[in-house]
Amino acid sequence: MASVGEIPLGSIDTVFLDLDGCVWFGDELADGAVEVVEGLRSSGRRVVFLTNTSYMRAATVAAKLRRLGIDAATDDVVLPVEVLGDHPALRDGPRVWYFGPDGVRDAVAEVAELAQRPEDAELVLLGRDTSLRYDDLTDALGVLVRGGRLLALNVDPQVPIGGGRVVPGIGAIAAALTYASGVRAEVVGKPSATFFEAAMRRYGATAERSVMIGDTLDSDIAGGLGVGMRTVLLGYGSPSALEPPPVPDHHVPDLRAAWALLAGATEAG
Ligand SMILES: [Mg+2]
Repeated sequence: MASVGEIPLGSIDTVFLDLDGCVWFGDELADGAVEVVEGLRSSGRRVVFLTNTSYMRAATVAAKLRRLGIDAATDDVVLPVEVLGDHPALRDGPRVWYFGPDGVRDAVAEVAELAQRPEDAELVLLGRDTSLRYDDLTDALGVLVRGGRLLALNVDPQVPIGGGRVVPGIGAIAAALTYASGVRAEVVGKPSATFFEAAMRRYGATAERSVMIGDTLDSDIAGGLGVGMRTVLLGYGSPSALEPPPVPDHHVPDLRAAWALLAGATEAG
C-alpha cells in the first residue's frame, strides 16, 4: 500500500481548512481567502472549515464567514462543541462543571448534565472564557482535587486576534489547572483523533483523500497526521511542545501558496 506521502495531491477530494490564522485573523480575512475557497470548490473539492473555535457555535461561525465574504453554510463548519457528545469522557454521563462563554453553554447542556455547584461536579469542561476570574480557577481546581476529570474544548496555547496580537488560549488555562492539580487535560477538538474521525464520518471522507491545512503544528498537523491525512502547514509554524515535533507533508507561507500547491496537483493530474 502506498504511504500517504506517495498519494498524488490531485486525488484529494476533501480539504479540511483551519480558520484562525489561516482564513481569518480575528475580524480580518486572510489575503486571497475568498478566491482560494472558491478555487478549491470549483476544482471539485469539498471545503470543510475544521476549527477549534470554542466561543461560538457552527451557525455563528458560518455567519461570520459569510459576513467576511466567504460562502459558507452551517454544515460546512465543524467545531469541538458540535461533536462534544461523541467524546469518551462524557460516555458515563458525568455531571459537568463548565466555564466558558454563554454562547456555547446551550450546546454543552444538550449533551451533558450541568452541575449547579462545583461541589456536585465530576468533570471540568473548559471553553474559551475571556472573562475568566481567579475564583473560576479555584472552583475548577476543587473539582479536580476531588478526583474529577479535565476536558478542554481545545488545548491551543494562544489565539491570533489580528494586528499581530495573540491572546492566551484554552490550553494555557488547562495548563495552569494541570500544574495545580496534576490532572492532565483531555481534548475534544484538534488534535484529538475522535474529532477528526467525527468530521470525516460526517462528510463520508477518507483520510487517504483528505488534506488538513492549518497553521498550528500541535493541533492541525499532529491531528491530521494522527489519522493518516496529508497535512499542509501555513505560515511561520507555531512552536511545538511535542517531542518529536510533528513534521507536515508540506510547508507553505500562506493560503495562496497552499492553493497553488493543490491547483498545481490538479493540473498535473
Ligand atoms: Mg489556526
